[in-house]
Order: sequence, then C-alpha cells, then structure tokens
Amino acid sequence: MATTKVGIAPMKVAQVPKAGGDFEIVEREIPNPEAGQVRIKVQACGICHSDVLTKDGWPGIQYPRVPGHEVAGIIDELGAGVAVWKKGQRVGVGWHGGQDNTCPQCRRGDFRNCQNLKIPGISYDGGYQQYMVAPVEALAAIPDSLSDVEAAPLLCAGITTYNALRHSGAMPGDLVAVQGIGGLGHLGVQWANKSGYKVAAIGRGPENAALAKKLGAHVYIDSKATNAAQELQKLGGAQVILATAPSSKAMSELIDGLGPNGKLMVVGATLDPIEVAPTQLIFGVKSIQGWAAGTPADSEDTLHFAELTGVRAMIETYPLEKAAEGYARMMSGKAEFRVVLTM
Ligand SMILES: [Zn+2]
Ligand SMILES: [Zn+2]
Repeated sequence: MATTKVGIAPMKVAQVPKAGGDFEIVEREIPNPEAGQVRIKVQACGICHSDVLTKDGWPGIQYPRVPGHEVAGIIDELGAGVAVWKKGQRVGVGWHGGQDNTCPQCRRGDFRNCQNLKIPGISYDGGYQQYMVAPVEALAAIPDSLSDVEAAPLLCAGITTYNALRHSGAMPGDLVAVQGIGGLGHLGVQWANKSGYKVAAIGRGPENAALAKKLGAHVYIDSKATNAAQELQKLGGAQVILATAPSSKAMSELIDGLGPNGKLMVVGATLDPIEVAPTQLIFGVKSIQGWAAGTPADSEDTLHFAELTGVRAMIETYPLEKAAEGYARMMSGKAEFRVVLTM
C-alpha cells in the first residue's frame, strides 16, 4: 500500500511495536484515504485469536503494526474515485482486506484465494485504533438493526462459521456436530440451529451443556465422559462436523463420528497434524475440508442472516486503552466468548 498522507488531528492507536512486543497506546495523526480507499471512524473492533500473528510475528509484517480484522465503524472520508460508498455509511472490515484483481485466482473471480490477499492488521493497520483506512473492496455494509459491538465479531468468527456451514453440503434435518463451545463454536451452534440442522454440540466436560442447549444444540456430547465419535454414530453419524476448537487430537478423534459422505469442516486453526488413516475416509466416502472466512459479500450475508434469525455473539467489551488487557483475556481462553474493543 502507498504511504498514507496524514491529516492534522491526533487519534489514539493500540500498536504492537515489534514482533513479540507489548501493546502501546500512542497518538498518531489521522490518516487520509488514497484513491479507492475510505477512512473509517472505528466504533468497535473484535479481538480475534488470529491477532496473535501480529502480536507474536508473521513473515512480512512491518512494525509498528495495529492489529484488528473485526472492524465496525462509519465512513467519514472518501478517497478519490470512490463512488458507491457514502460518508456516514456504517461499514465493517473483516479478514478479507483487499485483493489485487490481477492474479490467476482473481481473474477467475476467486477473490478469497487471491495470491496477494491483504489482511487488516497484518498487511496494513487494522481496527485497534480510532480511525483506519481500508480499500473499498474490503467493505461490508452493516444493517441498522445490528450495533457496532454486535457486528464486529460477526466479521471474522461469525462469517467463518456461517460460511463454512452453508457451504458444507448439509441439508435441513441433517445431523451437524459442532466441536468446541468457544469463540467460534458458540456461534456455530446458533447458525446450525437456525439453518434447520439437527445440532450436536461437543464439549470437553459437562460445564457447557446447559449453555449449548440454550444456544440451540439438540444434543450435548461430553467428549471427556464419552467417546464422542461413537455417540455421533448412535445418532446415525454426522453429515458435517464443524471443528472449531484448535485441537488436532480432538479433531482426529471425531472423524469416525462422520456418517456416509460426511465431512469434517476445519475452522479451528492449529499447526499440529490431524491424524487419519486413508481407510477412515475411503469407506463411507468421507472428507476433510478446511475453511477460511470469506469475502465482504459473504460478510454481508452473515450480518443479514444474523439480523433475520437473531444470532448474536456473546461479548465482553474493553475500551481501546485497555487493548492489552482485552487481548490477554482473549488469550486466556476464559472470555465468554468474544472480546470487543470500543473506541
Ligand atoms: Zn479472525
Ligand atoms: Zn488476486
């Protein structure tokens, strides 16, 4: 991205000064949008586990860097040539922070797999700040009925689980299991219920049983007390298992819970290998598929579905000045369930 020109008034920013460094609250000049960009007055920004890439380091990140790819705000300035979007319009920015429009994937319309995909908070400064600049192809319109705090976590955690489920091939009435009742899973259970699936929530221990049922699970399976794969088979085998908890071991143990033509949809990001014997997949024609969030148009679909069905993330909010505290809360795994910064 070109060097951003600066305005005059200062703004507050929560930045990571270097890979592995602590958060710093600093003042910066408010940036001005270049051609094809807008400036967003940020109202809320979710803290996602993937922000660990910015915090701890990832190849190519230039520091200092402002994390944040669950951004909700208001357009307050337009760059040259921006026609469709208007000042005052409520918009969100998620993981998909812009494509190059020229690579082989973009030429086929597969923008999500752009070879030069930009990610807010990694490729350029994200939403842990009062104002951010984003290219128009990263924008999703936010419906009036959703608050900024409600919309923010739907722009990564929400779209990831919603989009994975709606592309999973599961049909209304099918058994769909959601592994993990956390930041992703508590949304997955809600989407699955509202999509008309028979929903089995899988958690470790009995603690989350009542909550899972309240969120829309028809069945709760305690994977500590029982063999979850066998429990799924007793129910006929899962058409889809949405694997949200980042545990490759837990995912591996669930593969035998798939029914014929069943699919393990992997959204919980971890670096450890999933273990599976080819025969586990061959007999019953089963598959394992990964899923990453989606385009801003998919984000809009996610927000509209949330508006239609009442699906909402459970949220803890922190002011921008306490970004370090909010981030630590997210990393602790104890947040219920999404942490959102307010500006
Ligand atoms: Zn994320
Ligand atoms: Zn591209």
